[in-house]
Amino acid sequence: MKSHFGKYGGAYVPEMLIPALEELENAYIDAKKDKKFEKEFEDLLKNYSGRPTPLIFAKNLTEKLGGAKIYLKNEGLNHTGAHKITHCLGQALIAKRLGKKRLIAETGAGQHGVATATVAAKLGFACTVYMGEEDIKRQRPNVFLMERLGAKVAPVGFGSKTLKDAVNAAIKDWIENVEDTHYLLGSVVGPHPFPTMNRDFQSIVGSEIRKQLRETEGLLPDYVVACVGGGSNAMGAFTNFIKDKSVKLIGVEAGGRGKKIGDNATRFPTGSVGVVEGYKSYFLQDSDGQLQKTHSISAGLDYPGIGPELSLLHDKKRVGFVSVTDMEAVEAVDVLSKTEGIITALESAHAVSYALKLAPTLSKEKVIVVNLSGRGDKDLFILAKAFNDKKFYEFLKEYISELGIGS
Ligand SMILES: *Cc1c(COP(=O)(O)O)cnc(C)c1O
Repeated sequence: MKSHFGKYGGAYVPEMLIPALEELENAYIDAKKDKKFEKEFEDLLKNYSGRPTPLIFAKNLTEKLGGAKIYLKNEGLNHTGAHKITHCLGQALIAKRLGKKRLIAETGAGQHGVATATVAAKLGFACTVYMGEEDIKRQRPNVFLMERLGAKVAPVGFGSKTLKDAVNAAIKDWIENVEDTHYLLGSVVGPHPFPTMNRDFQSIVGSEIRKQLRETEGLLPDYVVACVGGGSNAMGAFTNFIKDKSVKLIGVEAGGRGKKIGDNATRFPTGSVGVVEGYKSYFLQDSDGQLQKTHSISAGLDYPGIGPELSLLHDKKRVGFVSVTDMEAVEAVDVLSKTEGIITALESAHAVSYALKLAPTLSKEKVIVVNLSGRGDKDLFILAKAFNDKKFYEFLKEYISELGIGS
């Protein structure tokens, strides 16, 4: 299997991990040829996660904007509320083939941790999720969910006590326990074979879009728009259209609070090529190659790296990159809620926001597909703050006093 996408990708890891990555690659190659694996994966996607997810014609939104037709691929209807469950299930099945007993992961905001803990419970693995102490403080609801799912959340107290330190802790664990442990990586990032494997698992999104749109419109979309953190939902939506030159692919990054370094997560055009966390790609980094701080209102897009294949597709100009600010994303959540009755995740709202700008510039026969990577339930607290909902804070105060906390 190819380990690079042009000059990007590869496996820049400590030598101790090379056998584990080779074992994983071989198990994956084997699984791809195995009808039993395919059936088991399809069965879980259908009967556990709820695939296929619907492709919804956003009639009200389309009429409101008066331009291209907008379709929404609702990945938020997956079990656990986002696309992440798909590559978690795929990897867990590979880990099972390898006879592994334990899944480990790192998580920043906790979404990937929750998806990993979920598949661990379902498929019978022990599970440890590494999380920076700072993130544990900020993301208590997801810590709670992971623990309810039976996972151990291991606090990481060194460095900045956030995601990149959790990555280091997880890698250390993997090196020490590689015999019985699979490191479940949460996007199309990291060393080979993770970017390829996770892309393949997620590519079902694009093949469903293709089929669903053929049934309703009888044609290919003119645009596919997806938000880009590490890039798994975007690669999922894009992969099946890369060969179709007429289909424009747009990745939407987090413009955050503004253009200053540290205020956003726009790898394009601000990032530069480097090797971090085991792979070569564009990163937001300083001149010493240390990762820069990033910011986005949506935790899932708040990441300094990007999948290596997306770096290549960027250089080849096959995928265009744009950015959307925090405020525009919040606005897009509001518009979509009120026109289509869908409260989308803040990450996905970045893609929606771009579509709101794009649609009116196109004629009515054009078709835009927006990938809604997740649903917005998880953003309750952030949205309450963004919409300055005072009643929500009164509710929280009341709730706390009923519990007798802080009195
Ligand atoms: C994690 C997450 C993302 C970002 O991850 P990708 O790998 O870029 O897809 C986007 N949307 C939602 C809802 C997420 O949970």
